[in-house]
Amino acid sequence: MGLFARGITLKAVVPTASHLASPLPPQVVLPLKQTIGAPAEPCVAPGDTVAAGALIARAPEPASVPVHTPFSGTVKEIGEVLTAQGTAGTAVTIEGDGTDTAPAPPDPELDARDPEELISRIREAGIVTPGLMPRSVAAELSPGEQPTTHLTVTHRPIVKAIDTLIISALDAEPLLMVNRVLAQSPQEHLAAGVAALRAITRAGKVIIVVDGPAPQLRDLAASDERETTTVVSRSARRYPLALPIPLIKAVTGREVPLPYGHPRDVGVALFDLATTCAIGAAVTARRPQTEIMITVGGGALTTTGVMTVKIGTPITAVLEAAGGYAADPAKLVVGGPLTGMAHYDTAVPLTKEVTGLFALTAREITLTAGYRECINCGRCVAVCPVNLVPGMLSLYCAKERFDAAAHQGLLTCIECGCCDYVCPSRRPLVHLFRHAKHQLREGASS
Ligand code: SF4
Ligand code: SF4
Repeated sequence: MGLFARGITLKAVVPTASHLASPLPPQVVLPLKQTIGAPAEPCVAPGDTVAAGALIARAPEPASVPVHTPFSGTVKEIGEVLTAQGTAGTAVTIEGDGTDTAPAPPDPELDARDPEELISRIREAGIVTPGLMPRSVAAELSPGEQPTTHLTVTHRPIVKAIDTLIISALDAEPLLMVNRVLAQSPQEHLAAGVAALRAITRAGKVIIVVDGPAPQLRDLAASDERETTTVVSRSARRYPLALPIPLIKAVTGREVPLPYGHPRDVGVALFDLATTCAIGAAVTARRPQTEIMITVGGGALTTTGVMTVKIGTPITAVLEAAGGYAADPAKLVVGGPLTGMAHYDTAVPLTKEVTGLFALTAREITLTAGYRECINCGRCVAVCPVNLVPGMLSLYCAKERFDAAAHQGLLTCIECGCCDYVCPSRRPLVHLFRHAKHQLREGASS
């Protein structure tokens, strides 16, 4: 069976255009590591006063992003915190003074056709891709700053021009809904974001992927005089269709080489709607990324919906803004319920890559503490989109035979969680795979 033909069909949450009130915490904690690159380097010190939108840390390398404060205030301290990525890292704490309006930029005008200027503004804004492996968008748009993929057999580098730009109004998981909500109403910076991405990538055609009504996106396609923009519909219920590599296969038929491939290896650049709007705001209004829109959900919460959150806001402030708990939470997940990361400390601040926060009840989660032996039922095999044998891989990983797991394709696992979802023995498959990959990386770097 071809790659990504498998997967699961879930009940998708119906997107609602009503936004939950945003929290305004008295202080934000801004981790300096916001991507898989090196942490940013602070350019403020305790006691300094900062204006909303001011730069507080510079990016030391292209894979990093600068960090800006979402509100005015005073730098309280620079210290270690636990981050949403599950690791300890340095963060700058800003005590707010109640002002979150950034001063107008000095020069918002721009010749929207100069790719270098466009990338420079995206870099200054510090925009990151959403999800578990956050990357600098500016670096993603500068192929020279990315490692080159090599063909496995001949070891020749893959160097391909981008011919297709995909703008996705789907969310990574069926229970996330930010992109689908954004698609329902006009977005001020959407057209500028698409134009900037088109100018930078020089893509000959644009494919916009939607599920449901998306009037502005359809108008955008209809107004393309060159008739090179198309809108295609895909179901938000099908999972993991909306993850980048399966989505590229679904709408172009092209297979990104796994395990280390990148969309550009098949001539594609892909961005979701929220990132495209952030890019538009960066290139037209020079607006730094200081806010994210997330899905807040789970049966333990009083209300669910989408919420705009300042980066650095602690989990606890988001839970309070959502009305608090309606039932006992058994698990807090940062990200989507299928691919997110469980957290136990509600002081953890949300960073730029976060897409959701879920407070799940005991009925909504799989309690892995009592997981059982694999019964070789094959359900995980039937759903794995990259044709692995997850049950067998989990046995290698549990016995710490990481090289054997890698030999059996562990590194091509996209960590979608479909196998976890269907396993009747409730084996923590993705947890085992992530741990094994981490051990392999540690081994490679030691
Ligand atoms: S998490 Fe990995 S092994 Fe499991 S179904 Fe997804 S790709 Fe396959
Ligand atoms: S679904 Fe679970 S029990 Fe069945 S083969 Fe896979 S790991 Fe084993």
